[in-house]
Amino acid sequence: MVRFRSYSHSHATRTEPGRRGVLGVTREVDARRTRFTKRWARGIVDRAFVPMSSDELVGYLTDLSDRIVALHTAAKFDPDQAREIGAALVAADVTDSGALGLTLTLLTADPLTATAGTPKRRREIRAALADGFAAALRERTLAEQESIRLALVDARRQAEQALSVSQARFQAVFSEAAIGIALIDDQQHIADANQALGDLLGRAPDGLAGHGLDEYAHPQDAEAVRSAVAGLFAGAPTPVQLERRFTGRDGALVWGRMTLTTIEAPAGHQYAVAMIEDSTERRLLEARLEYQAWHDPLTGLANRELLLKRLDETLAGKTGAVGLCYLDLDGFKAVNDSYGHETGDGVLVAVAQRLDLALRRTGCLVARTGGDEFVILIDDPDGEPVQCGERALAALHDPLRVGGHELSVSACVGVVDRVVDRFTAAELMQAADTTLYWAKSEGAGRLAVFDPDRHAREVARYSLAAAMPAAVEHGEFVVEYQPLVGLADDRLRGVEALVRWRHPELGWLPPDKFINLAEETGAIVPLGRWVLRSACEQAQRWQDIAADDFFVSVNLAVRQAHEKHLTDEVSEVLSSTGLPADRLVLELTESAIMGPAAEPLRALHALTDMGVRLAIDDFGTGYSNLAYLRRLPVHALKIAGSFVSGMADATDNGVGGPDPVDERIVETLVELAHALDLTVIAEGVETVGQASRLREFGCDVGQGWHFARPSAPDAITARLLAERNNHH
Ligand code: C2E
Ligand code: MG
Ligand code: MG
Repeated sequence: MVRFRSYSHSHATRTEPGRRGVLGVTREVDARRTRFTKRWARGIVDRAFVPMSSDELVGYLTDLSDRIVALHTAAKFDPDQAREIGAALVAADVTDSGALGLTLTLLTADPLTATAGTPKRRREIRAALADGFAAALRERTLAEQESIRLALVDARRQAEQALSVSQARFQAVFSEAAIGIALIDDQQHIADANQALGDLLGRAPDGLAGHGLDEYAHPQDAEAVRSAVAGLFAGAPTPVQLERRFTGRDGALVWGRMTLTTIEAPAGHQYAVAMIEDSTERRLLEARLEYQAWHDPLTGLANRELLLKRLDETLAGKTGAVGLCYLDLDGFKAVNDSYGHETGDGVLVAVAQRLDLALRRTGCLVARTGGDEFVILIDDPDGEPVQCGERALAALHDPLRVGGHELSVSACVGVVDRVVDRFTAAELMQAADTTLYWAKSEGAGRLAVFDPDRHAREVARYSLAAAMPAAVEHGEFVVEYQPLVGLADDRLRGVEALVRWRHPELGWLPPDKFINLAEETGAIVPLGRWVLRSACEQAQRWQDIAADDFFVSVNLAVRQAHEKHLTDEVSEVLSSTGLPADRLVLELTESAIMGPAAEPLRALHALTDMGVRLAIDDFGTGYSNLAYLRRLPVHALKIAGSFVSGMADATDNGVGGPDPVDERIVETLVELAHALDLTVIAEGVETVGQASRLREFGCDVGQGWHFARPSAPDAITARLLAERNNHH
């Protein structure tokens, strides 16, 4: 069974110059964008010095906001455009990573972007924007480092001519640089360090002199720093770049992005210059982005992407067993509708905590995959998926306390257990989803376990249903006709049209294999239309050789009876085939007519007004409401075969003998029908005995194997011709 789920998106509309403000939506987006831009500018000014007037900044950001809106709604996502926006911030000297953090927070929370595009698109935009920002910042830092290096080289070159001047210039660059700089002598000791490096390492710059740079590195990174510096003096190609951890103020961890180069000093001395930029915030940001990419922002649980990744890994590892529990809250929409979305979110968070707590010890992964859906992945060979599912349901047993409310929630779970070998990740998810659907169909708070046989049956049914509309067009269906015989004179009174499916792979399919299915999917409408047309065409061909009252009886499904254009369609078929209306009988079951809707009743009256006659099929198996029948424009009753089969007498089958109750029922039905002025047709007449009893009861017409099986139209033609000859 396939269920469709939708996220609610509100699509922001890109403002086109000529239509600005014309559409309500556009105006709305304009207003939102203006608010967004203002918030953005204010946030940036709070965090960083920007060499622009605030009007200039707003103007600058307005352009970027437009581009952001376009990114959310574009059919195809171009990450480079998002990166350019990140780079544009750096270009405007917005280099503080706090400003980037603010930008990302705004994108997640502001009404302009919070719900624009798909969740995946929003994530991609944030990631690419941060990436572009980081890349631009790195480039800028490199450029800065390069200019420092050039200044150093320059200073050295000028040393011979005017040592004091260049020294002063070097000192200026060295001490004022925002970047940490250490001058390292060929003993690999720091000869000089600037204030920025002191700040980075949380020490006075003077105190660093005489120590190795590696002494300030994180213990695990010390060796890497030592060998990088040593490599420089051993003639490694420069510059060398690496990013390592250092110990900063109060032992705090600091990430440093280092560029190492060498300079020749007078008198053949060689120095190394280490330029170290504090990259801690960027690192943290990257970690946060990484976390955001794999986690659900609301509940902090793993998101769908992480679940699928872990599932793929598990399946690739073939641990031999894997299980999935697909959990969906019952009636969650009602919580949202009656308590508001904030409470709804609170419920989701509380549910997530309960599930996490209940299942953490089992080592499985709990993910929120969207809306009120949670998936538990059990990838431990000793894990018990069914137990996990039960534990999850039990965890929701006590009411949740959310926003001052005490709320009871329940959920259904579909469990798929140990079927690794047969499924891909996508199929496994689909199977779990199907199983959840089974659980849901049994009511609230249910757990269902995946059953491969049931699934295979449903898939077969589903593919049969899916093939049906095309099969109608390809002419795979055929109509057989079964004689309806007058009991008084054995004369052919009419035929019932019965459809069969000549399936290209499955062979000859009787209607009980596909009619109910066609009813469920709606394919019965085109199929029924086709049967009606075929039967009427055929009956029209029989007109010349048959008696004036010879009719064709066509089954009408419940769904067809509720079709709006039923009357028009029948009338069109009659006129295009040339069959007089009184030659057509439509068979309906009681449930098709006795439902609450008025529509079928109106249609039935319109049909009988046209001259078409109606028969109630399988009478006795439904409501059997005779009083109601009186008010219907029905002309015949077909007594269900189940009553007739109970009438078999001893000479016929030798077992059991007749069932007196069934006989009484049939006799009474015949009497009542006649009292209502209805023709009575008995179905499923298989024996001589049944036929003669029915004759005794005064039943008008019989249908069944005793008279004839359903057959191709030729057999009916032959019988009609024979009867005509006898008659003459
Ligand atoms: P139904 O309308 O009650 O059709 C009579 C069924 O009884 C037919 O089964 C027929 O072959 C069977 N039958 C006839 N004589 C005997 C007998 O002596 N003994 C027994 N045991 N059965 C007998 P069939 O053709 O398999 O059709 C089954 C049902 O499928 C029909 O029941 C009808 O409800 C539905 N159906 C068939 N064709 C169509 C169609 O074109 N449209 C719709 N909506 N339903 C159809
Ligand atoms: Mg029928
Ligand atoms: Mg019937």
